[in-house]
This record gives sequence, C-alpha cells and structure tokens, in this order.
Amino acid sequence: MRAQPKASHYINGRYVEDQGGPALSVTYPATGEQIAALHGATPNILELAVASAREAQPAWARLKPVERGRILRRASDILRARNEELSRLETLDTGKPIQETLVADAASAADALEFFAGAIGAYNGEYIDLGGPFAYTRREPLGICVGIGAWNYPIQIAGWKSAPALAMGNAMIFKPSENTPLSALALAEIYTEAGLPDGLFNVVQGFGDVGAALASHEAVDKVSVTGSVATGKKVLALAGGHMKHATMELGGKSPIVIFDDADLENAIGGAMLGNFYSSGQVCSNGTRVFVQKVLHDRFVERLVERAKTIRLGDPLDPETQMGPLVNKAQHEKVLGYIEIGKSEGATLALGGSVPSMQGFDGGLFIEPTIFTGVTDTMRIAREEIFGPVMSVLSFDDEDEVIERANDTPFGLAAGVFTKDLPRAHRVIGQIKAGTCWINAYNLTPVEMPFGGMKQSGIGRENALAALCHYSQVKTVYVETGNVESPY
Ligand code: NAD
Repeated sequence: MRAQPKASHYINGRYVEDQGGPALSVTYPATGEQIAALHGATPNILELAVASAREAQPAWARLKPVERGRILRRASDILRARNEELSRLETLDTGKPIQETLVADAASAADALEFFAGAIGAYNGEYIDLGGPFAYTRREPLGICVGIGAWNYPIQIAGWKSAPALAMGNAMIFKPSENTPLSALALAEIYTEAGLPDGLFNVVQGFGDVGAALASHEAVDKVSVTGSVATGKKVLALAGGHMKHATMELGGKSPIVIFDDADLENAIGGAMLGNFYSSGQVCSNGTRVFVQKVLHDRFVERLVERAKTIRLGDPLDPETQMGPLVNKAQHEKVLGYIEIGKSEGATLALGGSVPSMQGFDGGLFIEPTIFTGVTDTMRIAREEIFGPVMSVLSFDDEDEVIERANDTPFGLAAGVFTKDLPRAHRVIGQIKAGTCWINAYNLTPVEMPFGGMKQSGIGRENALAALCHYSQVKTVYVETGNVESPY
C-alpha cells in the first residue's frame, strides 16, 4: 500500500522537496507497513513558506470577504466530492476505521470551510454612538498564522484552523503532526484547485523543532496548536516571548456524570462514544465515567455486554468499528497505563490486552478496556491515556460528583446524563469545562465553539468565536465637530 505524495511540502501553490531535511517515515498503523517517505522542513523550506505567505496575504486581506468565502465554499465542495479517497488516505495515515473517516474527517473539514465561507460576509465590527462624534471598530486579520496539528484528526484539524484563518484574510502555514503528514497536503492541493491564491495555505512537514521554529519566527503573528498540554505550554511560552496571538487546543481527562434516572442505553452509548471512538484517541473523551451508586452495577453489566460486541479489525473494512492506535509509542503508553490500573487495584472488567488479528500481525491494536472500582487518586483517573481505556467511578450525590469532576487540572469537556433537566443545567453550570454535553457526548458541530478551560486550552475553534481568535480589533474615533483644544 503506497500513499506517497509528490513531495513533502506544499508552498506557494506547488509541491516542494528538500532532501536535506530529516527523514520522516509514514506507516500504516494496522500493519506497520511504510506507506510514504518524506522529509522534515529545513530552515530554507521554512523561509520559503514564510516568504510566500508574506507576499500573498496583503492582497488576500483586501478582497471583499464574500469573495474569500466563495473560494472556501468551492474548496468545501471539492472536499465533499473527494470524501471517499480522502477518507481512505486518512485511514491509511491514522489507522482509524473507514467507517469513521468517511463521516468525521474530511467531511468535518468541509463543514468548517462551508461555515466560514458563509459566516465571513456577516462578520463585522461595531458602530459606537458618542453623541455627535462616533467610533467604529474594524475586525482586521492578524497576518501570518501558524497551525500545528495533532495526529488524531489530521485533515479536520487542518480545516478547523485554516478555514477561519483564511476567511478572515490571513495566510496560514500548517505543520501537520509528524505521524500523519499526508492529508494536509491533499487539502492544500484542493485549496489551489478551488482558486486560493498561491502562498496562502502552505504545508511544511517536521517534528516539534519545526513547530517551535515557526512559533518563534518574527514574521508569524499567531500560532494555533492542537496537541498535548506539555507541547501547548512550550508553544505558548514561545508565542508569549514574541507577543504573538495564540490558541491552544490541548488534552483532557473529562468527566461524564451519569445520574440514576438517566436513560441507561443512551448513557452507555455516550460513554462508549466518549471512550472508544478513534480507539480512544480523542482529546475531549470522557474517560472518567461517574455513575450514581444505585445504577452502577446495572450500568457496568450492560456496558460490558455492549462493549464486547465492538468489532476490531481491518480499518479499510466498512464493518470494522475500531482500528489500531497510531504508533508504537502510543501503543506502549496505553498498555503501560493498563498495567498501572491493575497495579493500583482497579478491576479490569473488560479487555486490557492486544488482540491477535489474522493478517495484521504488526498492527497496533488494543482491546476496548474498562476498569471499574476506580478511585479519584489513581493515575488512570488523573492522567490522559489517549487510548481505549474507560475508568468507571461511582458517586452518591450531586454536590460530591461536581467537586470530584472538577478535581483535575484539565477542563476540556464534560457530559451529564439525566432526565432531570433542571439538574442537568445546574450541574453543567458548575463543571469547569469548555465544551459540555447534556444527554449526548463528543458531538462537535462547527456551529458551536470548541475548546478548553484550565490547562486544556486557551481560545476557541469553530463558530464565530474562531473568527474572533483569527482577527484583531481596530477602533476608529470620528469627530463630527471641531477639535476642542486648550492650546
Ligand atoms: P503532541 O503535543 O505530541 O504534538 C502536537 C503537535 O505539536 C505535533 O505537530 C508536534 O510535532 C508539535 N510539537 C511538538 N513539540 C513542539 C514544540 N516544542 N514546539 C512546537 N510544536 C511542537 O500531541 P499529539 O501526540 O500529536 O496529539 C495528542 C494530544 O493532542 C493529546 O494530548 C490530545 O488530547 C491532544 N489533542 C487536543 C485536541 C483539542 O482540540 N483540544 C484535539 C486533538 C488532540
């Protein structure tokens, strides 16, 4: 299986190679087979990307917003038309089952392009009446924005960052994760085909050092990272050192609170979605599942029964529901946490092992894993695992569960399942998390802002909130009378 792009980088509307950059091998996580060989960016490549963005951005910013939107809209149509081939590419790059990539990856990027294509024409400043004189504000682009991606949703992340950036009149230089470099290149080709002027969406490959070089480049005005908290802190420090704008979409250890009056099947469905989708490699996953004591045993029994039926296998088979993890390091990390959970005294209610899969000997699979009897102080309940590992905890009452749910340095997401709606709103109102669901979990339509509180992040993606984070306000005071001066 090969998925070799024409070259490693995409700059100024064309593919560019520089063999002097470090080798970057791309493997299919289901088999371990190499599917592409690329190079990380050299300083020369970075300068090319910055120079072309600098050259292209001012004219782009001067276009009427609806004209920029029209190009994004065309790109969104192309993404949808090519959804199948892009989904296959994403499956090869990430190992996620095609059943998921067909609906959650290029399709989600297309949603973002479509949304911002339409929204930008209506995104304006304010008129401020000063009783004679007046003021108005302009929303102006920042200039050159850098996007740095994680490996779990590569094209979605590239779309979520580039669509609002471009709609607002910025240029974007995007660095995909070194684990999943392919689909951002496909997106760049699509932008060019849709009529985006050269230089406005450049893709450069590389490891963390390339991200760091971009985040501290004097020509860059903003950096938006999707990644771990540790990376976010480093990039925020770099951006802060240069007074750059920054958006941080980071990790979490989010709670799902299930009250005893909840619809049992829906609550289980939400908890499974929030732990096993994308083999658990989702930042907003609700990996601490708090179940009210009266319901606990029934919940666990039925949860295990349903989770047993999850079909692991060939990611390209449309029937497969769960694929492998992205790479060996992540595989080892997750297995390590399963051992930690056992040694901490949690009860392994399901899974915990590497399944043997015919034809996929090198595959990085892990069974859907459920721990019960988990307590708040266990590492599996405190640290982000980023794999298919659910921790079930039990609780007695509302105040207690709110306090325990908030007892974490993270604050990305939270969910509540109950039929008592006043309680649902009351509880959600007290949980410190940026993205919350009531009687649902992990749905992220582009119309709603997405992002974290506390160490899970700064800024928001999607919705009009994202346009705010890719622009700056200019205030203009206008005098309609004479200048009153004491001189
Ligand atoms: P990571 O932090 O290892 O890497 C993310 C990106 O940052 C990669 O492109 C990497 O090359 C780059 N990077 C690493 N060090 C850097 C540095 N010093 N300077 C600049 N760039 C650097 O994360 P990952 O392993 O790719 O992804 C998993 C993490 O991402 C998890 O913690 C997950 O929760 C988080 N995540 C968050 C969201 C969100 O929207 N909040 C979405 C997906 C993933």
